[in-house]
Amino acid sequence: MKKRAAVLALILCTAAVLAAGNLLPFSGGDPKNSGQKTEVESLPESFSQEESGNKEDTVSTEKTEEEKKEDTDKAENTEETEDSEEAKASEEAENSEETKDSEKTENSEETENPEEKKDSEKAEDTEKTENAEDAENADKKEVSVLEQAQTMYAQYNYDEAILLLKGQEDFESNQDYMDLAAKCQVARESLVEYPLEKITHVFFHTLIYDTSKAFDGDSDEGGYNQMMTTVDEFNKIIQSMYEKGYVLVSPHDMATVNEDGTVSRGKIMVPEGKIPFVLSQDDVSYYHYMDGDGFASRLVLDENGQVKAEYIEDDGSVSVGNYDLVPILDEFIREHPDFSYHGRKGILAMTGYNGVLGYRTDIAYKTGENLQDDQRAFLDNNPDFDYEKEVEEATKVADAMKASGWEFASHTWGHMNATDRSAQDLKTDNEKWEAYVAPILGKTDMIIFAFGADIGGWEGYSMDNEKFAYYKSRGYDYYCNVDSSQYFVQITDQYFRQGRRNLDGYRMYYNPDMLSDLFDVSQVWDTSRPTPVPEM
Ligand SMILES: [Zn+2]
Repeated sequence: MKKRAAVLALILCTAAVLAAGNLLPFSGGDPKNSGQKTEVESLPESFSQEESGNKEDTVSTEKTEEEKKEDTDKAENTEETEDSEEAKASEEAENSEETKDSEKTENSEETENPEEKKDSEKAEDTEKTENAEDAENADKKEVSVLEQAQTMYAQYNYDEAILLLKGQEDFESNQDYMDLAAKCQVARESLVEYPLEKITHVFFHTLIYDTSKAFDGDSDEGGYNQMMTTVDEFNKIIQSMYEKGYVLVSPHDMATVNEDGTVSRGKIMVPEGKIPFVLSQDDVSYYHYMDGDGFASRLVLDENGQVKAEYIEDDGSVSVGNYDLVPILDEFIREHPDFSYHGRKGILAMTGYNGVLGYRTDIAYKTGENLQDDQRAFLDNNPDFDYEKEVEEATKVADAMKASGWEFASHTWGHMNATDRSAQDLKTDNEKWEAYVAPILGKTDMIIFAFGADIGGWEGYSMDNEKFAYYKSRGYDYYCNVDSSQYFVQITDQYFRQGRRNLDGYRMYYNPDMLSDLFDVSQVWDTSRPTPVPEM
C-alpha cells in the first residue's frame, strides 16, 4: 500500500512538471512527500507528451560519423588515464607558447616526474615525522602549504596559490615555493574568460547502488527507472565529462551578490579548452519510501573525516563506502583535482520533511506531531532515537561537506510545486526550511525548484511577482528550474537564474542525442535497467 502510493507520487510529480509551463518541458521529477495531497489533486487532467515521438532513437547504438571519429580518438587517448593525460599534455604543449612550462605543469601530477617524486618522498617523511612523538611542526607546515598551493594550481586558482606562497615568511628561501609561484604566474597568462551564458547545469537524484533492488519489479521500479541514475552510469558520466574538459563551477562563480543586494555578473577564467559546468543533486534525504530499494541510507564521516555513504545490507549490517554521488565525486576530484574550478563541487537541493542527508531531523520526529505513516513506523522501529544527536551528526556531515566545496540549496521544505502554490504557501513552507533545515545545512541564497516548477516564465522575474519578492526578501538570489536545452542562464541586477538538465533514465532512453555534448549514452547506459523505460 505504502509502496503503491510512493510510485504514484513519483509519476504524478513529473506529470505536474510537464504541465508546468513552456519553460519547463520536463523535469526529472522527484521523490515526493506523500503528505502533499494538494500537489496530487492539483494535477491537470491531461498534459502534452513532450518529446514523445522519439522512441526509435532509444539508446540507439548507431552513431554518426562524427561520433565514431570521436570515439576512436577517445579510445586512442584513454585506454589508460596516464596516456590520456600525457596526450593532453603534449597537445597543450603544442598549442602553448611556453612549451616548457606547460609540460612541467601537466607533468607535475605524475609520479614519474622527479619534482613530484621529491614532494611525495617529502610527504612520506612527514607522515613518519607526524607519527613520531617529537614531530617538528615546521616540516609539517611546509608540506601542507605546498600541497595546498599545488591543489590551487591544479584547480586554476593561480592568484590564491601565489598569495599563499608569497605569504610564507620563508618564501624567498624556499625553492619549491618560488618555482610553484613562477609556474602560477605563467599559467595565469593563458587563462581565458568563459562565456557565462554557455554554462550548462546537470542534475541527478540519489544514485541507485544496487540495481537488482531498485529494479525488482515492484511498483517503485518505473519511477526509479525514469528519474534515477545508477552508480555505474554516474561513474562513466563524470569520466566522460572529465575527458571532454568539463570543470565543475558554482553559480556563485557565475554571479556575485553586492552589499546592497544587487547582483553582478561573475568572471570565470579557465585554460583554453576547459568547459565549466554546474552539477547538482536533488532530494538527498534518503526518504523513507526508498528503504530497501538499493539506495544508500545516509551520509556519514569516516575516520579520516571524509564523507562516505552508509548502505544497509540484507542482513541488517551497515557498510560504509562510495554508495552515492557525494563520496564518489569527492574521490574523483581527489584523483583528478583539475575537474574542479577553485575547489568547487556540487550543490545539494534539500527538502526537510524527512530530515536531511539521511538524518531524521525534522521537528515532527521530535514532537511526534503530524507524522506520516512511514515516519511513525521509523520511530516505532527505533525506540532509542535521539533527536538532538541526530541533528548534531547531520550538522557535522554538512559542515564537512561545505568545508570541502559542497553547497546546499533549498528545494523547498515540503517539495512544493512553486508554480502552482500561492505565495502564502511558499512563505509558510520557507519558514519551515529556515527553522528546521537552515540550522543544520546553513543559510542559503539559492533555490532549486522542486519539480523544476519555477515562479515565473522565461522572460524573467520582477518585483511585482509576489513569490519572487518574497524569496528575494529572504535572501535568495540564485534560482534554478529544469530545462532540457543545453544552456539557460539569466543574470540580471536582481537575480541569477539557470536551467538544469536531468541526466536520468528517461532522458538517456528517449533523447540520447540531447546528451551528446556530455557523454555517449550507448557507452554509459546501465544494462540492468528494464526497457522500455516507462513513458511519462
Ligand atoms: Zn526534488
